[in-house]
Amino acid sequence: MSDRYTEFVNSGFGKQLAKSLGLPQPVKLRRYQHGVDFIDGDSLIGASARPGLAEAALAVIGQSSGKIYVKCDNPDAKALTKQQDYATQDFDVVAPDKVKTIVFDASGIENSSQLKSLYLFFHQTIRSVSNAGRVVILGRPPEHCASTAMHTAQRALIGFTKSLAKEVGKGSTANLVYVRSGCEHKIESTLRFLLSARSAYVSGQYITIASEQDASLPASWEQPLAGKTALVTGAARGIGEAIAGIFARQGAHVICLDIPPSEEALNKVASKLGGSSIAADITANNTATKILAHLDDLNSKLDILVHNAGVTRDKTIAKMPEGWWDMTLNINLSCQEKLNTLLLEKNIIPAGGRIICVSSMNGIAGARGQTNYSASKAGVIGMVESMAPVLEEKQITINAVAPGFIETEMTAAMPFAPREFGRRMNSLSQGGLPEDVGETICWFANPASSGVNGNVVRVCGQHFIGA
Ligand code: NAD
Repeated sequence: MSDRYTEFVNSGFGKQLAKSLGLPQPVKLRRYQHGVDFIDGDSLIGASARPGLAEAALAVIGQSSGKIYVKCDNPDAKALTKQQDYATQDFDVVAPDKVKTIVFDASGIENSSQLKSLYLFFHQTIRSVSNAGRVVILGRPPEHCASTAMHTAQRALIGFTKSLAKEVGKGSTANLVYVRSGCEHKIESTLRFLLSARSAYVSGQYITIASEQDASLPASWEQPLAGKTALVTGAARGIGEAIAGIFARQGAHVICLDIPPSEEALNKVASKLGGSSIAADITANNTATKILAHLDDLNSKLDILVHNAGVTRDKTIAKMPEGWWDMTLNINLSCQEKLNTLLLEKNIIPAGGRIICVSSMNGIAGARGQTNYSASKAGVIGMVESMAPVLEEKQITINAVAPGFIETEMTAAMPFAPREFGRRMNSLSQGGLPEDVGETICWFANPASSGVNGNVVRVCGQHFIGA
């Protein structure tokens, strides 16, 4: 779907006009390109006193080809980063013009007065972030902090990050990662995602790495899903097609599922990806049997299940036909619960498995005319919250994305005014692309993301609604 306004303001004349009229100036976002390093430039790392995560972060950043600058006012933090075997340079001495990424380890902040280290660091460095840059702040999950003072201070990082994300501008993002003590070695897949072009439309979010499930690094970061079998529902078009495409690019065998009337489009998608297809309605009684038979034919378990299929049937509740309520709740929520139960009972999803759900920003914020849709999508979040601890024992994770405005046939069908409102009212002033949701789902699916369980991450460019 085209966004002519973004194209216009990125032309010479359009840029001038938008600037003089004070109109939004969305920057063309940097997205995944084959062969480009995960950090496409230099990095800066800083830390508060007693940093607990800088070492793990440096081990990840150190794998990129750019330079690493260090700015730590605390002697112990400085000593820690200096003792690493990386060619780091002192930011205060070199002060580069621009860096692509900034990572700040705030995990040592134990009380509210120590929050000042955020001010001291970012006051001096935030202007160094280049266009489409990435800022990541690292902390400890407040609920796992040893004291009330630390809980308070670590919780403050959310407000700080969300505000910073609104200030960075120029297509850049800022996100917060809470890492539970003992999970430091599980940080890599999340940092690689957030620091790279793959997270183009994820901003102002916080992610918690706290699961105690076994961690395993993929043999290749380009193809981390090699040898895995994934099922994507609603894969004939839109977001589902994009998810399937990225799964295949990352090495998975993808089973694409969609309704029988979409069979032609579905088969086209599946054959383009070297995957297979099931033409079935997910609400039909025999669909689970078809999935099991298909897996049997492939002689495979199901490593990754993505509940993407979804519908909208919008009307205010007073005018909504009962059938619209039933259909929306059934497709978007109830049949997903049933499929999970059945596949888990039959042990079809092995240890290391992933269930990934597609909620929605409107499941968080609510929307007029969408009581059915918002209930279903909020229910999806409930399903993730309630199943995550249960699946923990089986070494399976469940997480959800909550997309904001994504350019698909679903949103192209919206009337002009709400469409433009939905598209621009976010920190990046533009809609996301299906691949932005797909990349986020692939990060959840990565075998190295075993520490990420029970998270709901908005892919919304930090939309102002429900934030
Ligand atoms: P879409 O309408 O383009 O695609 C949805 C696909 O699901 C279609 O191919 C459709 O045939 C399939 N589907 C519907 N009912 C089905 C059923 N009963 N059985 C099997 N397949 C079925 O929509 P999209 O924009 O790609 O959305 C994908 C998901 O993302 C949905 O869950 C949607 O609610 C969610 N979402 C989308 C946006 C957005 O801005 N596009 C925002 C938030 C959430």
